[in-house]
Amino acid sequence: MAKLISVVVPMFNEEAVLDGFFARIVPVLDGITERFGLNWEIVAVDDGSRDTTADRLKEIAAANPAVTVVLLARNFGKEAAMTAGLEHARGDAVIPIDVDLQDPPEVMDEFVQRWFNGAEMVVGIRLDRSADTPVKRTTSRLFYQLFNLLCRPGIPENAGDFRLMDRVVVDAVLRLRETNRFMKGLFAWVGFKTEYVEFVREKRSAGSSTWSYMRLLRFAIDGITGFSTVPLRMWSWLGFTIAILSFVYGVYFVVKALIIGDPVAGFPTLVAVILFLSGMQMIGLGVMGEYVGRLYMEAKQRPVYIAREVIRSRAETSASSDPDRT
Ligand code: UDP
Ligand code: MG
Repeated sequence: MAKLISVVVPMFNEEAVLDGFFARIVPVLDGITERFGLNWEIVAVDDGSRDTTADRLKEIAAANPAVTVVLLARNFGKEAAMTAGLEHARGDAVIPIDVDLQDPPEVMDEFVQRWFNGAEMVVGIRLDRSADTPVKRTTSRLFYQLFNLLCRPGIPENAGDFRLMDRVVVDAVLRLRETNRFMKGLFAWVGFKTEYVEFVREKRSAGSSTWSYMRLLRFAIDGITGFSTVPLRMWSWLGFTIAILSFVYGVYFVVKALIIGDPVAGFPTLVAVILFLSGMQMIGLGVMGEYVGRLYMEAKQRPVYIAREVIRSRAETSASSDPDRT
């Protein structure tokens, strides 16, 4: 039986780009599947769009039996939508891709080629990000450096979600049941034989990005706290260092007062030191709060997303990738 590749596409308010996306990706998929003797399916996840995305997807699914549509009950965010897509994908290989055509579908040909040659994961690396603003590029570089300093395993800079994963990788990723899903981190965490393919990130084909800087910052904090406890432990070291330094400083004053007889003055210094230290303590507490809050969210064990409706594709699967097999 021919192998199946699944393309997973999260969408949130994307009516402006949706038709263009299908028009461009379907011929590419047809070409790839013909060249390699495969079948394809597209798993489109509507992440609670408030425009006509969901209706349009239903129409597309009705017309095209190779399209699965998962409609989420509300906007759960891209990471949750992608998880929903991965869970509903039946392929022997799965490729997550953005709907705005910033990830050129033509690159998938190289992905599949590498997969055929034995790679278990083929990661797209954005070579030229001139399509993104300089501020976004700088903050993104800083984030990757910080992440790789604090977290193991690290993630390659400029790797996005656009990649091919063999079924073994997808199954491994789906076994990670955490609510806080920083997908790039999860993909790297599971390991497997990984290769890299460079590509040029294109401009968004239409519409606008829904990621504000506040949202990106939250995403960055999610990523780091999800994979590292260094921010927690850091405070012990800082406290330790300050304690030693202040002890030495105290001894210095005692000696100065006893031997030299210098009356120790310095109300302003005292205020400055107290304020500085209480500030540090509050930051430490805040960091602890971040982790406690996350523990609380994880402890509830809520599902990552809720689907309102699922329309399943009728693409043929190879026996190995059929989730209904017993
Ligand atoms: N997306 C989503 N849920 C959201 C936000 C975005 O599924 O809450 C999807 C969006 O439709 C697109 C992809 O995630 O397919 C990337 O989003 P976007 O282009 O806005 O992000 P950027 O390219 O600026 O990182
Ligand atoms: Mg985009």
